[in-house]
Amino acid sequence: MIVIDTGFNAARQIAWAGLDASAIDLIFITHDHRDHTQHIGRVLHAAWAAGRSAPIHIYSYPGIGDVIDTGLAELGDADAAEVRALAVVHELSEPGVIYQDSGIKVTSAENTHGRDYSYAFRFDMPDRSVVFSGDTGYDARVVELARGADVLVHEVVYMQLIEETVIAARDDPEARRQMRQHLTTNHIPTELVGQVATEAAVGMLVISHIVPLELTSNDDHLLLDILERHYDGPIVIGRDLMRL
Ligand SMILES: [Zn+2]
Ligand SMILES: [Zn+2]
Repeated sequence: MIVIDTGFNAARQIAWAGLDASAIDLIFITHDHRDHTQHIGRVLHAAWAAGRSAPIHIYSYPGIGDVIDTGLAELGDADAAEVRALAVVHELSEPGVIYQDSGIKVTSAENTHGRDYSYAFRFDMPDRSVVFSGDTGYDARVVELARGADVLVHEVVYMQLIEETVIAARDDPEARRQMRQHLTTNHIPTELVGQVATEAAVGMLVISHIVPLELTSNDDHLLLDILERHYDGPIVIGRDLMRL
């Protein structure tokens, strides 16, 4: 089993999804932000508690070892050393093919997130190919990575709602400008997500990491209205515990 990013409650979500944590073989971390890394210690602990004894290989930006150590220290489990021993960390310093076995090839590309070592990942398997954008603005390197993939899982910012809430709440025009700039360059507005999917000619677009978080499934049509104007393939608004 493969896990991509280990944010808050990742271990609990694996359990709620009915998945066996001891089957986790590989973890890929897109970048160094807490919403993508915070519970890596708990995920490893869950695998160990479920009986995992074989190594779990982790492909990540340099420094994930510290997050694992901190997470395990917070758990305060007497068996933390055994859990830690499961983790084999491979630090990613440049893009390209980062993992390959008989069933899967994993390729990374740098994306645009305003920090070093931020990656998109492509998983090529015998039956299908899936690409995860990571957190990113529009980036031609992500388009290239995703070219012809069966499924593209992409982040999105619903700017219209952000304008009415987060940005409107700021009095200072410069603060508003900076917030807008950040969310449209280090993240990506809805229109451009559709454009990426069209340019890469992917078979399906799955929206994930939806900002703002408050956007509920009742609001799916807001995103779909925009996305469908820019991409005419199948679109899925990703939600917690969804299976595809
Ligand atoms: Zn991020
Ligand atoms: Zn994020």
